[in-house]
Amino acid sequence: MSGVAVWVDERRCKACDICVSRCPAGVLAMRVEPSAVLGKILEVVNVDFCIGCRECENSCPDFAIFVADKGYKFAKLSQESREISQKIKENGFYKI
Ligand code: SF4
Ligand code: SF4
Repeated sequence: MSGVAVWVDERRCKACDICVSRCPAGVLAMRVEPSAVLGKILEVVNVDFCIGCRECENSCPDFAIFVADKGYKFAKLSQESREISQKIKENGFYKI
């Protein structure tokens, strides 16, 4: 499966977790980042699973995340990506 390019502007990200909680495909997670105000920062961890739904981009209050492909591809949401998404959420939104 080919992924959709997703970018994070780390200067804007405030590590609120909203985009991670909204992503249905396990693409996003937090990483520990001691230099960040909250000690964490968003990371694109599984870009190959991205379905281009833009939930992350549309839900970010700080305009910190961008999705290259604007097309919906829900048919490509795989069972594996659902499971990874669930594990990330159960793990407090951190990388697994
Ligand atoms: S919603 Fe925006 S500010 Fe919040 S973690 Fe995601 S990219 Fe960062
Ligand atoms: S576009 Fe959709 S699938 Fe891709 S990272 Fe954002 S929320 Fe996740």
